[in-house]
Amino acid sequence: MFYGFSYIIPSIMHQKLPKEIDPFRLAQTGLKLDGELPLATMPRLTKSLQNDEGVVNVKMAFDMDEIGTPYMRGNFIASVSVICERCMEPMMLDLDVDCLLAMVSSERKVEGLAEQYDPWILENNDPVLLSSVVEDELILSLPLVPRHEEVCLPDEAWSVGDDENELIEVDKPTSPFAVLETLKTKH
Ligand SMILES: [Zn+2]
Repeated sequence: MFYGFSYIIPSIMHQKLPKEIDPFRLAQTGLKLDGELPLATMPRLTKSLQNDEGVVNVKMAFDMDEIGTPYMRGNFIASVSVICERCMEPMMLDLDVDCLLAMVSSERKVEGLAEQYDPWILENNDPVLLSSVVEDELILSLPLVPRHEEVCLPDEAWSVGDDENELIEVDKPTSPFAVLETLKTKH
C-alpha cells in the first residue's frame, strides 16, 4: 500500500521546518529555525494574492531575554504576485518582514511587556502551526493598495470613469497638484 506517500509529497519543500511548534519550549531551549515554507501552506495570505506559487524564506530565533520573557525574532522573505490596483496588471511584490514577538499566556499580560515586543498570545500549550505565525506577519505587511512604484498608466487613463475615481480617493495622492489635475480633467 503506497497511499501514505501521497501525504508526504507536499511537505518535501519544507522538510527542514517542523509543521507544529511549542513556542515556550523552543524559547527555553534557544532554538533557531531556518528553512522554506511554500506559500501554498498559507491560504489566508494567498487569497489576497494572484496565485500561491513560491516560497517564504523563514528564519526564526527563539530565546529568553534577561528578565525571562520568552520571545521569537523572525525574518520572513517572499516574492508574491499581486494585482496592481492602478493598471490591473500582475506585479511582483517583495516582502521582507522582521518581527519580534514576546510570548504571553494571556491578554492580561500584554501590558507588562517591554515596548520593543509585539505580543504573541498563547493561551494554552497546544502546538502552534508554524506556517500560521509566518502567515500572520506577512498579511500585516501587505500594502493596502498594491501599485507599481513607477507610473504604470498615464494620468488620463486612470482619472476618468467611476471605478478609477473611487480609487483616487483611496489613493490619497501625495501631491496636492495631482488632486487638482484630476478635478480639472473631470469637468
Ligand atoms: Zn500598475
